[in-house]
Amino acid sequence: MSSNRVYRIALFDGDGIGPEIMAPTRTVLDMVSKRVGRKLEFETLPAGAQHYAETGEALPASSIEAARSADAILLSAMGLPNIRKQDGTEITPQIDLRFALGLYAGVRPVKLYKGQPTPLADPRAFETDFVLIRESTEGLFAHMHEGKVVDNSYATETLRITRATSEKLFDFAFRLAGQRAAKRGTPGRVTCVDKANVFRSFWFFRSIFEERAKAFPDIAADSAYVDAFAMWMVQKPWEFDVVVTENMFGDILSDLGAGIMGSLGLAPSADIGDENAVFQPCHGSAPDIAGKGLANPLAMFLSAGMMLEWLAGEHEDSALSEGAQMIEGAVSKILNSGSTLTRDLGGEAGTQQMSDAIMGLVSA
Ligand code: NAD
Repeated sequence: MSSNRVYRIALFDGDGIGPEIMAPTRTVLDMVSKRVGRKLEFETLPAGAQHYAETGEALPASSIEAARSADAILLSAMGLPNIRKQDGTEITPQIDLRFALGLYAGVRPVKLYKGQPTPLADPRAFETDFVLIRESTEGLFAHMHEGKVVDNSYATETLRITRATSEKLFDFAFRLAGQRAAKRGTPGRVTCVDKANVFRSFWFFRSIFEERAKAFPDIAADSAYVDAFAMWMVQKPWEFDVVVTENMFGDILSDLGAGIMGSLGLAPSADIGDENAVFQPCHGSAPDIAGKGLANPLAMFLSAGMMLEWLAGEHEDSALSEGAQMIEGAVSKILNSGSTLTRDLGGEAGTQQMSDAIMGLVSA
């Protein structure tokens, strides 16, 4: 891969703490890409709650099209609780993008670094390193604006599982397990989390999982019911590798993952489709601390690292993978040493201090 290659990154600065954590992330990406000899070109696109308040549009069609044509999309956090649509709900461009760009695989790493807080007491907690894949375009969210309340006496929503998306989702999970196995020198494993004992839709989901597993004989495949799995995430999260599940279950379990990671400020994520991918921290716009310089930027930095790793795979460009490792290595070193911790991690550092600490490591 030539070092002249320019990667075009679409940025959504977002609301609340969004712009505060996006600015140092750009600097970290500039430093890392310079070190590995690659060029990133950024284009900031309008969207979000503030944009909606000013223009009546939360996610302009022109922003979707510009994002679609970029090599990757980096988003901070969108939404403000006091800015609402007429029906009382909030704007959700981060969800709308998943549907517009067909981003069916929501990738939520649950990884504990030594030195970070966790409510888990077992010392093996720090061996926790699994990836939760949340299907992101169907399940209970497939018809999310079409639920009905009938005669004020009952309400219905529809859960939809399709063969086409499930096959792509499971193949994605098995391929990811293969990549992790090669990198870590451990056998790969994919666990399907469902409720196949009660619901036919989940029996269908599980049967497609078992069919697809046959195409990946080197990767172990097993299944678990979501209720038991929720307990195991607390009791023995270090036992899992890649976990794949339906949209609503994934929504809930990924917050449980952030809970055992001790802080939302450490939880990165990606939403990946066949052509496009959005990378963003799991947290929201944190209006309670916005403008105070207190936001932890690490989840945003780690999301930027995931973006480089994904671009490396898409373009067979190992230099970008080195860049991703620089970011993750710097985060790991800072947390291990405990030298700089933001308030959500039990320390006193602000966004700037934490950003400076990471920049000091990645610029070297
Ligand atoms: P939130 O994630 O913004 O905040 C929850 C708590 O975590 C707050 O106490 C906040 O201060 C803290 N927190 C979050 N990120 C932090 C960080 N980086 N460093 C330190 N502390 C951090 O969730 P919320 O308060 O429920 O939602 C606020 C707004 O964000 C809402 O409008 C919501 O709709 C929106 N939201 C957006 C996304 C997204 O863009 N993906 C996700 C969740 C919520």
